[in-house]
Amino acid sequence: MAELTDSQLQRYARQLLVPQIDLEGQQILKSARVLIVGAGGLGIPMAQYLAGAGVGFIRVADDDRVNLSNLPRQVAYTEADVGRLKVDALAERMKAGNSEVTVDAHAARFDANSASDLLDNVSLVLDATDSLQARQDIDRATHQFELPWIMGSAVRTSGQWAAFDAQRRQGCYHCLISEPFGRQNTSCAELGILGPVVALVSLQQALWAIKYFMQQALPWAKLYVMDAWSGEQARLALSIRPDCPLCQQPKS
Ligand SMILES: [Zn+2]
Repeated sequence: MAELTDSQLQRYARQLLVPQIDLEGQQILKSARVLIVGAGGLGIPMAQYLAGAGVGFIRVADDDRVNLSNLPRQVAYTEADVGRLKVDALAERMKAGNSEVTVDAHAARFDANSASDLLDNVSLVLDATDSLQARQDIDRATHQFELPWIMGSAVRTSGQWAAFDAQRRQGCYHCLISEPFGRQNTSCAELGILGPVVALVSLQQALWAIKYFMQQALPWAKLYVMDAWSGEQARLALSIRPDCPLCQQPKS
């Protein structure tokens, strides 16, 4: 297990006091390897908090560039970043906050072609995309590579998040939403989004990631839905679709 240096003991002092983390947990975090797909409103808080918490290796993938309309919620970026690749600016901020973690920035979109590169040598995937198609691709690829993943999405003042185990014993994202999407595929670019709402979802995902690395079971295949404006939250059990094209078919 990765030993902690004196400066790391000092850096993580408050976190080490949390019984759920402790010294052993901090060492586990140091060896943890995660992929974050997306460096926008969802990707930024989880990336910065996981880097801050000492997750040893964080790969971030996004091929988008910073736009002025991103700044209200993608608060890691400054006006000077407009036009830059998001992953470059975000990696810089993460390293500035914690130079002891490895940030592996990929100016790439997650799809069937890039999946095997992006999933190489990580043990958990965090979805921070804004697209049903990307989530379907993540679901398919992580199922194939037997990796767990945590989805998150937010639109206007509502958000949702769910975790799927490596073997999809409790069902998969395809059980929840099947292709073709039709009218379901409306993004926050069309419907709007409020910064604190997307940050709340992102930090739920980050917290689950830490919990997962602490070897605690996550509520697999339960969809959490929240209306951040009213403060109401609900947990919905997801049922395995007997005809699910992903988790109920023999693996090729
Ligand atoms: Zn399924």
